[in-house]
Amino acid sequence: MGDTVPVNGLAGKGVLVTGAASGIGEATARRLVGAGASVVGVDLAAHPPPDLGGAITYLSGDVLDGTTVQRAIDAVVERAGRLDGVVHSAGVGGGGPIHLLPDEEWDRVLDVNLKGTFAVLRAALGQMVGQDRVGGERGAIVTLSSIEGLEGTAGGSAYNASKGGVVLLTKNAAIDYGPSGIRVNAICPGFIETPLFESVMGIAGMEGPREELRHEHKLRRFGRPDEVAAVAAFLISPDASFVSGQAIAVDGGYTAGRDHHVTELMGLGEE
Ligand code: NAD
Repeated sequence: MGDTVPVNGLAGKGVLVTGAASGIGEATARRLVGAGASVVGVDLAAHPPPDLGGAITYLSGDVLDGTTVQRAIDAVVERAGRLDGVVHSAGVGGGGPIHLLPDEEWDRVLDVNLKGTFAVLRAALGQMVGQDRVGGERGAIVTLSSIEGLEGTAGGSAYNASKGGVVLLTKNAAIDYGPSGIRVNAICPGFIETPLFESVMGIAGMEGPREELRHEHKLRRFGRPDEVAAVAAFLISPDASFVSGQAIAVDGGYTAGRDHHVTELMGLGEE
């Protein structure tokens, strides 16, 4: 069969991807293009990755800027006739111990991660509620939370708060707009090897924590952007037609529970 990309009913669908110039957003845009979707990407970066730029409509701008988000949605509608899906992946890392955290850092992280999610949801839902149903649905939206939106992390503060907020805002949207035929789900990735991940792991002294974090993923490795993109594509596809209001961990088992090495005493060592 070669490298056949599963279609999942995404051919011809109009999809907005934010954060499309890097990491999870970029991998998602690639996957959707491969499945035949009509993709518009938004990112702060001036340009998309060169080999992706020709396959999508790309807008450089801030998801906190309502005009940019509306222009992007209008571009999807112009390309595909409607806004079938949104994958909102634009986000930033940040945080620190609370008593050392300046207002500016709190505001930066909460603004992009939580208010940015609100801004994209508001514009997307505004478009979707006015559309006719196709296959029973008016649209599907995926937000990006984190395992750090499901459980606390040392030093997480602003990031934990922003991503926890994304989970409940997503669930709220699923409740309010489910009757209108709009599905809304959050993906909660574990640690995924992207530029964001490298910016944190590249800090001097992070070698030890990096190894502990890797071990915390029960598959004993970090994730790849395409492994999150696959779930995002599934969630906006008709294959996920009965999935809504969920915070889905894509985390190699990170949040399954603690591992205190007891099974090693029982003879189950790591390979
Ligand atoms: P990344 O830094 O590789 O990509 C994020 C992209 O978002 C960048 O291209 C950046 O320019 C863009 N962006 C940031 N702020 C923006 C804004 N205000 N407007 C428009 N674009 C903006 O990061 P990633 O690792 O791909 O992360 C994507 C999402 O997944 C984020 O929400 C992140 O919090 C979340 N996440 C990532 C990981 C991980 O380990 N990489 C884990 C859990 C959750």
